[in-house]
Formats: sequence, structure tokens, C-alpha cells
Amino acid sequence: MMSYDSISEHIVLIDAPFQGKLGVLGTYLIQGETSVIVDPGPTVSIPHIEKSLRALGVSGENLLFIAPTHIHLDHSAGSWRLMQAYPKTRLLVHPRGSSHMKDPRKLEAGARSLFGDAVSEYGEIKGVPVPMVIESKDNEEIDLNGVTMKVIWTPGHSSHHQCLYVPEDRTLILGDAGGRYDPMFGIVTPTTPPPFNPEKAMDSLDQLISLRPEKACYSHFGFTNNAVQRLEAHKNQILLWSRIVSESLEDQLTPKEILTRITANDSDTARMRNDHVERSPMISLMGFIRYHEWKSTV
Ligand SMILES: [Zn+2]
Repeated sequence: MMSYDSISEHIVLIDAPFQGKLGVLGTYLIQGETSVIVDPGPTVSIPHIEKSLRALGVSGENLLFIAPTHIHLDHSAGSWRLMQAYPKTRLLVHPRGSSHMKDPRKLEAGARSLFGDAVSEYGEIKGVPVPMVIESKDNEEIDLNGVTMKVIWTPGHSSHHQCLYVPEDRTLILGDAGGRYDPMFGIVTPTTPPPFNPEKAMDSLDQLISLRPEKACYSHFGFTNNAVQRLEAHKNQILLWSRIVSESLEDQLTPKEILTRITANDSDTARMRNDHVERSPMISLMGFIRYHEWKSTV
């Protein structure tokens, strides 16, 4: 089973099946004469990614970077494996995530403490050789011979999050900075496991909106043609969740009761289908709760 789709002139979505399901983890290829693969996915996805790259004419000579939008395991954990097949390719990662890509033990332990055994579904997790790791710079533009990739640091979902923008295509690769998208119903919900920072996330969304993108590509999952509208709606959604969580904590509600309040006020969240523990509404809610608890102590 091989699945990929052209999103815009220079961008291809590669859909590696996860646990036999398509439409869960999105990998994007930006293709000029040289190429960048964004979010290679976990180790179990890499055989599919390699096959797709070969079919798309990407060789070890012209794959410049593997660029995880952030180092969460479902986005980045297979990088080490892909680099074995592409030894000349470098990893382009936010400086706050680079040490964890070289030594992922803390990252894996952190994920296990939140998601339990679900982490094992990603396959073997290993470090990327130190000399292959390059730290990105905010707003840097990388020339791929025929197309440009701009790096935009977007903290919020995590402190080490970056989005990739292709100005020629007016297309933005969001990672998890724009929430989770369900292309079937056209709805977006937060994907905000702790540690999440809603204020930084909203600043990052403002920055992305100021680019006036046409298309936005989500890691989970697919793309939309009305990027600005979606990003603005998501910003309002984060504001809404934040307000409800802060009021509910004052009312001493339990997380379950808070979630009921949220779904009563946010029809998108009420309709979203659950596809993985990492993106369940309760995990996203915990990101907001921990943030507001922390804020009330400072
Ligand atoms: Zn993430």
C-alpha cells in the first residue's frame, strides 16, 4: 500500500499507514531540485516513507534535510532510521529540541509517563548521530533550487516547535501548531498535551496568520484551502478553552467536568473522532489545566 498526494506545486503529502490506518500521521515533502522531508514520523513509518521517496525521485544526493516540526515521537522518532538510508542528509531541528534528537532517552521517558505503552507502537527509538544534527534559525530561508522553504519558530504546542512555509506555493506546513484537523468534517480541535503554553501558541498563530497563507497542511491530518480562516478559528478555540479552564479551576471542577463544559461550548470538540491517545481531548485538556495551575503559582 503506497499513498501520497500532491498538495501544491512543490509539496507532496505522504500518508504512511499507522496501525493499518491511513490519515493519521502526515509527512510532507517539499520538492525543488533539492528536497526536504518534514516530519518523517515514527520508526514504524520509515519503510513506507523510503518507498515513497524512491517513487518520487528523491535520492540520497538531493534530500537536503529531514525537518521535524518538533521532536514529539510521532513526528520525529524515525529520523535516525531514515538517515541510515540517506547518510548525506542532515536533520534540521529547533535548537531547544536538538539535544533530545541526539539522545532521546528523556523524551521517550516523558512520552511514556503521559501515554503509557502506546509509545511502543512507534517502534525502536534511537539517537541521530551528533554531526548530522543542525539547529534551525528563526525566519531563515533555505533555497531548494526552484523553491524556498522558510523556517518559522512557533512555540506553544511545545517549546521546540517550528513551522515550514513555502512562499511560492503560499502553503504552510503546520505540524501541530494549528491543532488537529479532520478533513472529513472540516473541524479543528486542540492537540495540546502538557507542557503546553496557550499564550505562546496564540502569538505563534498570529505570526502564521501574518504570512497570509492560502493552504495549511496538518500533521493530523490533511490540508485546507482556507488557511487564515482556520488559524483564526483555532486561535479563538484556544482562547475559549483557556477561559473555561481558568474559570472551572476556580470552581474546583474535576477534569471530567471541565471537559463536559468544553464540549458544551465547542461543537468541533464535541464532534471530533478519537484517533490516538496522544490526541484525545482529555490529554489536550491536561495541557491547559497544567498551564493554568502553574500560572496561578507564579
Ligand atoms: Zn506534538
